[in-house]
Amino acid sequence: MPVKDPEIVVIGAGHAGCEAAWAAANLGVPVLLATSDPANMAQMSCNPSVGGVAKGQLVREIDALGGVMARATDAASIQFRMLNTGKGPAVRAPRSQSDRKLYVQAMRGLIESHPHIRVIRAMVSALEVSGGRVRGVVTSSGQRYCARAVVLTAGTFLNGLIRIGDRSFPAGRAGDPASEDLAVNLKALGLPAMRFKTGTPPRLDGRTVDYARLVEQPGDDTEYFFSFFHRAERLPQVSCWQTRTSAETRRLVLDNLKLSSLYGGYVEGRGPRYCPSIEDKFVRFPEREIQHLFLEPEGIDTREVYLNGLSNSMPHEVQERMVHSVEGLEQAEIVRHGYAIEYDCYDPRALKPTLESSILSGLYLAGQVNGTSGYEEAAGQGLVAGLNAARALQDRQEVTFSRTESYLGVMLDDIVGRGVDEPYRLFSSRAEFRLHLRQDNADLRLAPLAYELGLIGPEQIAVVEAKKALLARCRDFLSRTRVSPERINPYLESVGSASADSWLSLEKLLRRPEVSLASLFGFLGPWEFTAEELEKILPQVELEVKYAGYLDRELARMDQLRRMEEVKIPPDLDFSAISTISHEGRERLARCRPSTLGQASRLPGLTPGDLSVLMVELGKHGRKRPAG
Ligand SMILES: Cc1cc2nc3c(=O)[nH]c(=O)nc-3n(C[C@H](O)[C@H](O)[C@H](O)COP(=O)(O)OP(=O)(O)OC[C@H]3O[C@@H](n4cnc5c(N)ncnc54)[C@H](O)[C@@H]3O)c2cc1C
Repeated sequence: MPVKDPEIVVIGAGHAGCEAAWAAANLGVPVLLATSDPANMAQMSCNPSVGGVAKGQLVREIDALGGVMARATDAASIQFRMLNTGKGPAVRAPRSQSDRKLYVQAMRGLIESHPHIRVIRAMVSALEVSGGRVRGVVTSSGQRYCARAVVLTAGTFLNGLIRIGDRSFPAGRAGDPASEDLAVNLKALGLPAMRFKTGTPPRLDGRTVDYARLVEQPGDDTEYFFSFFHRAERLPQVSCWQTRTSAETRRLVLDNLKLSSLYGGYVEGRGPRYCPSIEDKFVRFPEREIQHLFLEPEGIDTREVYLNGLSNSMPHEVQERMVHSVEGLEQAEIVRHGYAIEYDCYDPRALKPTLESSILSGLYLAGQVNGTSGYEEAAGQGLVAGLNAARALQDRQEVTFSRTESYLGVMLDDIVGRGVDEPYRLFSSRAEFRLHLRQDNADLRLAPLAYELGLIGPEQIAVVEAKKALLARCRDFLSRTRVSPERINPYLESVGSASADSWLSLEKLLRRPEVSLASLFGFLGPWEFTAEELEKILPQVELEVKYAGYLDRELARMDQLRRMEEVKIPPDLDFSAISTISHEGRERLARCRPSTLGQASRLPGLTPGDLSVLMVELGKHGRKRPAG
């Protein structure tokens, strides 16, 4: 059924745009999704994978909030790995190697089947604005679309400029046109633009790779789904491969530095330090003579392989020599060369926590345009922008996310509160409560809110409620079931644990590092639980018991932060007049204008002393104000 009168226009059907359209449409708001080419919907501009540390947690949060990324990922997954299984639960994260083509297909299928989304192929060239409010968009062919809100998710396309050696040409990414008119229009409207850059490595023809000389990296055997609510059919699984650069690769890079866009002085934009190009790796880390490279298949019906780790902006002939200097790639043919891209993005401090622009009402921004990098980060922001745009039109209260409940909240608080000075991506180290913000409990953390907001329905919340009840039943069972020394000692001996001399509860036993729930149930029998039930909750119960002490301490700190978030900083507070705050602290506060004491506490450059003074000042300020 065609969507007649859109209320929201989403510009761009990348990762952010698709989630924005989906979230708004799920609230019943008609959405027009205008994108330069629907065939490239949710295109993975760089590596064909979803998830990883912190990002995997975010994808599950998006799913718990009714989003689409996890569903498309499951439908296109050709290798799954749970990362960091040997480390603590906070950094365990799911990662999927995706079939690039199938991912686009899955996302397009979902988006185009939504009754409230209409997709058009169009390049938006300007926003229609009057009275400080966005009223619609104009396309490059002169077509006007009215809207009560616009979500801008144009990715790397705004003034996009590809650089390869000393050559440069406008493009949104390889093969796609840049969005230049819209970039000019946004600047004229006063959006505070910044210039960032990113890069991508060459893709190889897999038939020309000598796999016998590479190290195979198979996926996990376990079947895993990113989505809590939907089950996709499992595709044939493939391996990734590992190799490394040689002394010759390093020499080639260092000898040709001047020819690279980056070191030849051509690039103006700031790139991500955490995701360096190969030029950066050899220059900035001279002690590391060898760099690991990973060959990641681009799909099941293509031989194209993504050469992870060799991102660069060298001229083509240098890239070819670099590739041939790598073990196993001596004869490899390049299908697509690597390149760097510069683009406009906008200072996210000019956004509200809902991702609405504080400069132009009704305009929401999400994804790479906010100075972030990564599909998952973009998708998470898209969801928040679409959700809030729709709720604003429905005169419903805005929805914001806190650092205590989600990676989504961490990201929003980081970018809106502190701004970015390089492409921002999520790391688990950015989250102070990462033991709580796990991939396995994203549904428990966020699905109740999603249900309340109308983002998921009764069927989905019933799944979450059932899991919650099962977890509680299992925890209760473990704490009330006690075993005698005679019964348990043979087991304890078998796992190298000290023998018991009195009756012990299963919970107490499980706290021992050598004891796993699976082996314990294996020995004693699962009693009240079916194998299917246990499969759903076993790892979660186990880590909740084993890490109970840490989790409780984190809960106490979460409470403290929540209380600080409740202390609002008046928008008119003159920080420069508080002379007892350090000079740097005052400057920081004036520049970032935190809206709560909690936000202020996370500003770099603010000492604990500064914070106490601010707290006292806020107390005084509160007392000076008239009651109410
Ligand atoms: C070369 C390259 C290398 C990258 N390397 C990495 C990396 O190593 N690690 C990493 O995490 N991320 C990397 N990224 C970034 C990653 O691709 C983005 O973070 C992610 O795609 C952002 O999603 P998005 O939805 O914000 O934008 P995009 O995925 O870029 O989608 C933008 C969409 O907007 C559409 N569009 C743009 N302008 C208009 C307009 N005026 N009218 C209509 N439609 C429009 C486009 O067609 C596209 O569909 C790289 C990107 C590129 C291009």
